[in-house]
Amino acid sequence: MYKRILLKLSGEQLSGQFDIGIDAELCAWLASEIGKVVGDEIQVVIMVGGGNIVRGVQLAESKGISRVTADHMGMLGTLMNALALADVFNAHGLPTRALSNIVADQVVDQFTHRRAITNLQKERVVIVGGGIGRPYLTTDTAAVSLALEMGCDVVLKATKVDGVYDKDPAKHKDAKRLPTVTFEQAVADNDIMVMDKAAMGLAMEHKLPIVIFDAMQADAIANVAAGEPVGTIIS
Ligand code: UDP
Repeated sequence: MYKRILLKLSGEQLSGQFDIGIDAELCAWLASEIGKVVGDEIQVVIMVGGGNIVRGVQLAESKGISRVTADHMGMLGTLMNALALADVFNAHGLPTRALSNIVADQVVDQFTHRRAITNLQKERVVIVGGGIGRPYLTTDTAAVSLALEMGCDVVLKATKVDGVYDKDPAKHKDAKRLPTVTFEQAVADNDIMVMDKAAMGLAMEHKLPIVIFDAMQADAIANVAAGEPVGTIIS
C-alpha cells in the first residue's frame, strides 16, 4: 500500500461527457472514489491538467498569440480546473484545498511545500493548479516534479486506456496490456505515448514509479492505491 500518492488528472478527463469545460457530476463521482482512500493512511495530492480549456501548443498556432502567452493561458486553465474540483470535492464531503503555482492571491492560496504538507496532515486532499508555473512544460512534468517535492511514493497517471499495450489497442484486437514496463522501454519507445517523455525521464532519474491506469472505473483509484496490480506500472 502506498502512503502518499500523486494523482495526475488531465483536463480532458474532467470534461467527462462534454467536449470542453468541466463535468461537475463526474467530479462528484471522483470525490467519492478518492474519498475511499483518503484517511485510510493514504494521503492524496492531485495535479490537474488543462487540456479541456487551453492547450498551449495548439493555441500558439493561431496568429498573434505567442507560445509563452498561450502557455500562460494554459496554466490559468489548470487553475480554473483546480478551483472547480476543490469546490466540488468539498461540497461532497471530501475535505480539499486548492493551491496554485501561479500567484493569484485574490483567488487561491499559493503553493508552498509547508502549506501542502500541513493540509495533507489534516487529512485533506491537496489539488495543485498552475502546473509548474513556467511555459514550455506540461502538467505531466509538473506532476512528477510535484510528486518528488512532496515525497510521494508513486505517480498515478489516469488515462483513457487502462494501461500500456504491446500495440495500439484501438487498431489491434489482439493487443495485450503489459503489467510492467521499464523506464528505459517507456522513454525509448515512441509508440508509448501515455506520458510526456520529459516527465518519464525525470521519474526515471529519481526512480519514482508511475502507474498508468483508467481512473474512471469504479474502485480503480482505491485498488491502485492499495498496490494491487491495476494498469501498467513503469519502474
Ligand atoms: N502548461 C505550462 N506549464 C506547466 C503546465 C502546463 O505552460 O507547467 C500549459 C501548457 O500550455 C499546457 C496547458 O498548460 O498545454 C495545459 O496543461 P496540459 O496540456 O499538461 O493539460 P492536460 O493535457 O493534462 O489536460
